[in-house]
Amino acid sequence: MSESNRQLRLKTRPEGDVRREDFDLVAQPLPELGDGEVLIRVLYLSMDPTQRVWMRDIPQYLPPVAIGEVMRALGIGRVVASRSAHYAEGDLVQGLLGWQDYAQLHEKQLAASGYVKLGAQAQQLPLPTLLGACGMSGMTAYYGLTDIAPVQPGETLVVSAAAGSVGSIAGQIGKIRGARVVGIAGGADKCRYLVEELGFDAAVDYKAGDWKQALKAATPDGVHVNFENVGGEIMRAVLSRMVIGGRVALCGVIAGYNSDERPADDFSVAIYKRLTIRGFLILDYKQAKEAVQALGGWLREGRLKAEETVVDGLENAPLALNRLFDGSHRGKLVLRVDPAS
Ligand code: NAP
Repeated sequence: MSESNRQLRLKTRPEGDVRREDFDLVAQPLPELGDGEVLIRVLYLSMDPTQRVWMRDIPQYLPPVAIGEVMRALGIGRVVASRSAHYAEGDLVQGLLGWQDYAQLHEKQLAASGYVKLGAQAQQLPLPTLLGACGMSGMTAYYGLTDIAPVQPGETLVVSAAAGSVGSIAGQIGKIRGARVVGIAGGADKCRYLVEELGFDAAVDYKAGDWKQALKAATPDGVHVNFENVGGEIMRAVLSRMVIGGRVALCGVIAGYNSDERPADDFSVAIYKRLTIRGFLILDYKQAKEAVQALGGWLREGRLKAEETVVDGLENAPLALNRLFDGSHRGKLVLRVDPAS
């Protein structure tokens, strides 16, 4: 076991792209454990668009990360020392571990929602998949299309950021449910991937000049359900294609996360199309067993494809996060913190 713990602590709030200098990389000696405490070696960290929002001092669903605080991040780690009767060396834990080599947590913190001990069945899957298709991203896609805006056979579903972690699973769930699925993504390669490898019916490259026309051509019967990950101009274009009574699972608005400018959105279309637009947060789904079982089953049957882009090295976390915004990854973006994992 390494004798020190490297941590990335927020130093300055980024403006636009995240810079390495926005974080202090500090090495701390590993602490003695107190009664009830557990030391977890961080193996993989989930890179999530919401982390860019956590870096900002604006109203949001969790407190912003404070200056000087270890950057908040979901991850998977292995217990390497324990003074808790509930955790043994070797246990795998998923939860908010942070941008650091080791997380020292009390069993009371681990008992709070947001942390789970991974069982034997989960451990049959690769760890990055447990953060992606069969983890938080997959569950978000699952509940968005099951609970928030269920899609029916024969309906048209449009998914934005469709080649990313949540979007790629949402589109595939749409196909499993018998919908006609159209993905929106940046670039010809990603669009080809959606149709040829993931089985989408059509894909629209929003970086191509004629993309609104292409969206219209790809949705001849209009759009019944929109699984929205991007917001802004893309969402407005999809809403304008929706049928009367269409439903929107408003999952994320990544187009606005990197900028302090608030878009002046015109929602009159939601009125005249009698749309139901429902925002949701996966952290409200405490019992995710149903989703994990369904996603795991589809993966085993080969009906769902999981893809991950893995970046190595804790020190690379700040710059890696920008890949969520420049689109230079496919599927789930994860950071491997422990080179041995
Ligand atoms: P991701 O899709 O793997 O990565 C983000 C993708 O968004 C990029 O690959 C990029 O794809 C696209 N993008 C970035 N900036 C864009 C822009 N300005 N315009 C158009 N596309 C842009 O990330 P993810 O983790 O799956 O998250 C996707 C969305 O789900 C985010 O909005 C996130 O906040 C949301 N989310 C919500 C919940 C919830 O509980 N509600 C949970 C997880 C995630 P291209 O190359 O195609 O541009």
